[in-house]
Amino acid sequence: MSGSRIWTELDFDAEGKHSGYLHLPHSVNDSAYGTIAIPIAVIRNGKGPTVLIMGGIHGDEYEAQIVICRLMRELAPDHLRGTVILIPAVNLPAAMAGTRVSPLDDLNMNRCFPGDPNGRPTEQLAHYVDSVLLPRCDVWLDWHSGGWSLDYMPFASIHRFRDAALTETNLRALAAFGGPVGVVWSFFDEPRMAKGCAERHGLVYLGSEFGGGGSVNRAGVALAYDGTLRVLKHLGVLAPTAPFAITPPQATRYFDIAGRNHNIYAPHPGLFEPCCGLGEAVRAGALVGLIHYVDDPLRPPATVHARTDGTVLCLRHPGRTRRGDCIVQLGTEIPTQAGTTA
Ligand code: CA
Repeated sequence: MSGSRIWTELDFDAEGKHSGYLHLPHSVNDSAYGTIAIPIAVIRNGKGPTVLIMGGIHGDEYEAQIVICRLMRELAPDHLRGTVILIPAVNLPAAMAGTRVSPLDDLNMNRCFPGDPNGRPTEQLAHYVDSVLLPRCDVWLDWHSGGWSLDYMPFASIHRFRDAALTETNLRALAAFGGPVGVVWSFFDEPRMAKGCAERHGLVYLGSEFGGGGSVNRAGVALAYDGTLRVLKHLGVLAPTAPFAITPPQATRYFDIAGRNHNIYAPHPGLFEPCCGLGEAVRAGALVGLIHYVDDPLRPPATVHARTDGTVLCLRHPGRTRRGDCIVQLGTEIPTQAGTTA
């Protein structure tokens, strides 16, 4: 027993296509016995892997929310060999508010795992994912974007797990996703993140950053849709006869976010002017940003320099920055292809 207080009318083992809600009890002034009803669909056709496709761990990351809603409308049981669980916006209160953290408890769901069945709403959600959904699954597509504060080049990603064979399996799934950029996160050993749960459960696990800046990246939406279908085909979950026009994968360039030096932080509060663009290669020591003092115009701006060679994968989106905000993130290009990781 998971001990979760979240319940659903759905039978995860039922054949066919069923949509409904995860009900998160939320007793408040205007709804004494109320629940937060989080949309979910389960589409099952016989034997095969179970794939969880989830958006909205962060509410202000929109591309996957759009794509998973579309897949809920389009996918039918006879398209599949196995089971697909679709959740467009798991942290629904954050998604409806358009915020990274939940307005109910100010918690970042991706720092709440493995959660708490008796905790605050976001902790209860994380616990449900970890204790009820993930044990049923073989594969987790945990789709993200940069959100309001970051602007990312669209890509899917893997994390370097302790299990090298699983990392290799994930890399093959990343190659099948087939975007122009693929990222390997070698950095961030953070058990409170979703990827920590995926590693503990031994799942095939892909993450992503499909855009950011609090808006919808058109190319990111297309990549999320096409790439998701390509991964389902790669897994054998999408039947060869399914009537989807699946575009072929692109030649992927791989980048490793390898260490702390790949994140560049603002040394002062002020107005951030980027001096590099997304996708641009920079060398260690290169000027990547200026911090301006608009209330002290004669003071020269602070200069911010790269501490390692790399390609700009992400820029801070808002102009105003505080000391300690990440303003640039770099990736080191690696020749990695499936079958060649050490
Ligand atoms: Ca995110």
